[in-house]
Amino acid sequence: MSEKIKLAIQKSGRLSDDSLKLIKECGINVNNGKGKLTSIAGNFPMEFLFLRDDDIPGYVADGVADLGIVGENVVLEKEKNVQVIKNLGFARCRLSLAIPKDREYTGIAYFDGLSIATSYPKILGRFLEKNNLKADIHEISGSVEIAPNIGLAEAICDLVSSGSTLFTNGLKEVEVLMRSEALLIGSPGLNACKKEILDRLLFRVNSVQTGEKNRYILLNAPNASLDKIISIIPGMKSPTVLPLAIEGWSSVHSVIGEGEFWEVIEQLRAAGAQGILVVPIEKMVI
Ligand code: ATP
Ligand code: ZN
Repeated sequence: MSEKIKLAIQKSGRLSDDSLKLIKECGINVNNGKGKLTSIAGNFPMEFLFLRDDDIPGYVADGVADLGIVGENVVLEKEKNVQVIKNLGFARCRLSLAIPKDREYTGIAYFDGLSIATSYPKILGRFLEKNNLKADIHEISGSVEIAPNIGLAEAICDLVSSGSTLFTNGLKEVEVLMRSEALLIGSPGLNACKKEILDRLLFRVNSVQTGEKNRYILLNAPNASLDKIISIIPGMKSPTVLPLAIEGWSSVHSVIGEGEFWEVIEQLRAAGAQGILVVPIEKMVI
């Protein structure tokens, strides 16, 4: 039997949908039926383990799984021997300290001597130590944001994205300890065969990510403006220029970065481009 690489992903939670989406965009079939703990890809040498996110770094460090998709916050908290292979750009959030919103925040010394509830005792402990603060850390595994309301702690250290959960619990974010996103992590000792499968996977992930960061652009231009337009959208090698049926006009095709999109379009219009179409790119291999 030929070798497979084992990828651990979160069974159900904030990482699950985007992890599965990425795998599917890489053309890998994953059958994650309800209640399943493992599954095998039909068309790629990959096996999936569906786990709680907290367990993923440990399984990857021990080699039970070869790869895992998990938040940077969990990787830093668990302190397991894993390699960070790639930042995946989703599940962005921050780990922050928050206090009751009617309290005046006086700076980081505010936390000295307080009790703080968190699911991230190690990251919080390191942060307090770095700032020469002593605080009483209450480790709780969920619903950290209700701790001040029920008198369990005077502050919390928890994940935040929009801040609306804090707000509804009468809290305000006052310090950011770290920013986090989903990471692809790997076991330190992958064998040559698994490394080869990982390289194939990374090629696909990179193509998906590059595609997402770029747009395909098509436009019509009078031939007299072509030089100017080509200088605005250089493309991967150079743009494709095709004659239109109307004399004196051409169609120009190229690729632009998502971030420069509006600026480029304004310049193109000013240079005489018409009928500009911008379409998403599913995969891009460069
Ligand atoms: P599990 O049952 O697997 O232990 P969990 O309840 O610990 O799940 P989730 O709430 O699903 O975890 O969050 C998983 C990860 O998603 C977090 O560790 C973090 O990296 C990221 N995350 C958490 N909160 C947010 C948020 N508000 N916005 C975006 N990403 C977040
Ligand atoms: Zn968890």
